[in-house]
Amino acid sequence: MVAGLDEKLEPIYQDVLRRNPGETEFHQAVREVLETLGPVLVKYPELADQKIIQRICEPERQIIFRVPWQDDRGQIQINRAFRVEFNSALGPFKGGMRFHPSVYLGIIKFLGFEQIFKNALTGLPIGGGKGGSDFDPKGKSDSEIMRFCQSLMTELYRHIGEHTDVPAGDIGVGQREIGYLFGQYKRITNRYESGVFTGKGLSWGGSRARTEATGYGTIFFLEEMLKVRGESIEGKTCIVSGSGNVAIYAIEKAMAMGARVIACSDSNGVVVDQDGIDLDLLKQIKEIERRRLTSYVQEKTSATYLEDGCIWNIPCQVALPCATQNELTAKDAQCLIKNGCIAVAEGANMPTTPEGIRVLLEAGIPFGPGKAANAGGVATSALEMQQNASRDSWSFEHTEQRLQQIMVNIHRHCYETSEEFDAQGNYVVGANIAGFLKVGQAMAALGLV
Ligand code: GLU
Repeated sequence: MVAGLDEKLEPIYQDVLRRNPGETEFHQAVREVLETLGPVLVKYPELADQKIIQRICEPERQIIFRVPWQDDRGQIQINRAFRVEFNSALGPFKGGMRFHPSVYLGIIKFLGFEQIFKNALTGLPIGGGKGGSDFDPKGKSDSEIMRFCQSLMTELYRHIGEHTDVPAGDIGVGQREIGYLFGQYKRITNRYESGVFTGKGLSWGGSRARTEATGYGTIFFLEEMLKVRGESIEGKTCIVSGSGNVAIYAIEKAMAMGARVIACSDSNGVVVDQDGIDLDLLKQIKEIERRRLTSYVQEKTSATYLEDGCIWNIPCQVALPCATQNELTAKDAQCLIKNGCIAVAEGANMPTTPEGIRVLLEAGIPFGPGKAANAGGVATSALEMQQNASRDSWSFEHTEQRLQQIMVNIHRHCYETSEEFDAQGNYVVGANIAGFLKVGQAMAALGLV
């Protein structure tokens, strides 16, 4: 069953559908936000008069460009890249770049749209944007990655800047790619403008704890949700989908706080290790050797590998979707509940389908939506920008403490907003409304721009 939209919001949504045909993930992200905004327009009619919702749904600027590059065999390859500069009411556009063959405008727009609210929730001065390319980094050599990044930046450099638009990583883009992108930006512009990128290496302007931040932040948020129910992550059995940057550091922090993490996954299958995931081995395989998860079970024979398996079928108390969009469906949610799951926090962006969310909420399961629960990554990016602006470099402990405080604040803000709008403990309502109000009020103050 699809929830209805408020009568004022339905025509706005219909307009989004008409103006952005075929962009299904974008439609989904917009709909989820609009479903929660009805009561806001009643309470803040001036935001409706100012057409803030209609304006928020339209990116300020969208750039689509060709990225030609040569592979190691000398063959010419052509990719398409995007940068969607969605909203700059609170600060420069801010958001990662995703390199994945599934990337098209609809994915970048859903991510950029989510980013507006997520970034607002951090309480830090960052607007929302996102970029990426349909380039597939899998199986590419280091030189191919470099040539691709350099070609992409040869166009993108003119659109970004520390006060304009500040990209970072996302799926398929980590410190290596940021390095090549930043290097080419520096070369073309002749400026060492550290603040134009986040997710940089420590020796060239990066922040301590940025690598860990998204995963750690998700666990900090989860702990706050559990606290409300008189629970804690300690001693809980967890499963974490994915095995990339977010998943690895969610596992690390969950384990450090006393959880038992027994499964993770990649696009080919699931690893189940009842001894608890061997984090050193996982990091070695994914971060250093860049191999598939099948290598994990070759090294650790006590673990099992479920080819094409669904991670959500594995009994757990806490489920952390940290892979990609729409990976947790209604059926998966039902299975989690049946097996005794008591909380779900999203480390990835929009990993739970709308029907999946509905099943979890109706069952009263605390559910942390990505725009709140995974905001620790971009929040720490904003801390990296602060360090760059003051030419400073903070300790790991200090940076992590700031991150934790930000996640505690986001949780409180979302919770209190959910109470204010008669949906106590519904973090979807809380996050959407709290994020929307912050951006909407800034937009109204800035006039019709
Ligand atoms: N890609 C991350 C996200 O989805 C981080 C963005 C950033 O650090 O700018 O929030």
